[in-house]
Amino acid sequence: MEKEVIVATKNKGKVKEFSQLLSKEGVVVKSLLDYPEIPDIIEDGQTFTENAAKKAETIAEKFNSTVIADDSGLIVDALGGKPGVFSARYAGEEKDDIANMEKVLNQLLDLPDSDRTARFYCAIAVAIPNSETRIYEGACEGYITREPRGKNGFGYDPIMYIPEKEKTMAELAADEKNKISHRSKALKALLSEREEIFRS
Ligand code: IMP
Repeated sequence: MEKEVIVATKNKGKVKEFSQLLSKEGVVVKSLLDYPEIPDIIEDGQTFTENAAKKAETIAEKFNSTVIADDSGLIVDALGGKPGVFSARYAGEEKDDIANMEKVLNQLLDLPDSDRTARFYCAIAVAIPNSETRIYEGACEGYITREPRGKNGFGYDPIMYIPEKEKTMAELAADEKNKISHRSKALKALLSEREEIFRS
């Protein structure tokens, strides 16, 4: 019998990415796009893990079924870990990718390349009814550029330089990004425990 899992997001890009990876495992992905009446969950945790767990547990309780949620963002060492959990809204509530990138670039203006280290980070939580929530993590290391480059991806991709690829994340094709991204690494970790997660 086909298994079904709900991904607690209304982000179409994330739903697509989760569907592609989980369909290979015979798992059908539903998301909150199928339930538009459910209000957005407030992400008020101090960490990515807390936010991911809150989203997964809230929806799992509602449906009494297994739910996956993720929370991700950019961590810049020279900014003491910012934008971190505030990545989406770093320059304001409008969630403006360009303004967010400009803010980071301006804050790093005089810094030499060696001090521009950063990583994308993703925490995925799996909430299973009557079981402890499981957390899987993934990170992708790079440097913040001096100006945006590339048109693919979203968010901070144009200012995240990936040394092994000698390109920014936004200069990579979607399938190339998916091979190395923080989100795909966290998903791979989740899939290593697929037997226990999708048992019932
Ligand atoms: P959330 O996981 O939907 O809360 O995403 C938080 C924010 O982190 C996004 O709005 C982006 O600004 C940033 N972010 C997360 N993942 C990526 C990525 O793969 N590329 C670029 N920015 C990202």
